[in-house]
Amino acid sequence: MTRICQLGHPVLRTIAAPVIEPIDNSVWRLVRDMHRVLLDEKGIGIAAPQIGVSKQVFIVAPNQVVNPPYTSLDTGLVVINPTISALTDTVTHEWEGCLSIPGIRGYIPRRCHILVEYTTLNGERVSETYTDFTARIFLHEYDHLMGLVFLDRVESIKTDVITDQFYDELMADSE
Ligand SMILES: [Zn+2]
Repeated sequence: MTRICQLGHPVLRTIAAPVIEPIDNSVWRLVRDMHRVLLDEKGIGIAAPQIGVSKQVFIVAPNQVVNPPYTSLDTGLVVINPTISALTDTVTHEWEGCLSIPGIRGYIPRRCHILVEYTTLNGERVSETYTDFTARIFLHEYDHLMGLVFLDRVESIKTDVITDQFYDELMADSE
């Protein structure tokens, strides 16, 4: 069974290597493993380093739905060898969690409008723009490829890091 690498594992602090193109079956196998773990963990995104593979691949699945051919956000999008550029200086803050850092949330600033260029599993090079929540997932997963985690972007440990339990109470209070 594939397990999630937890914070402290050196693979999470390593810059991931680009996938050699054209895409071969090893990448499809990697994506299948990531797919399985993402569903098991009910996540909305996962990066290859989180399952111990230091390659530039991540999945973005805002609806917690993941299915081949992994070409749309509705059914999970596989992103290979991405580059990201910001299309705005505007930054928004939201609470984020991470499968590699269970039990902890951070209030994380991210650019809210981005351009992503990446290779699909079918080997096509595409570019898309994303905003807000979706942009946030891309930026969170992209950080994993750069050896970063969300805690690195916390502005104040005193106020912006909380437990899952406190987060649940906070959300219940705000309803
Ligand atoms: Zn993460």
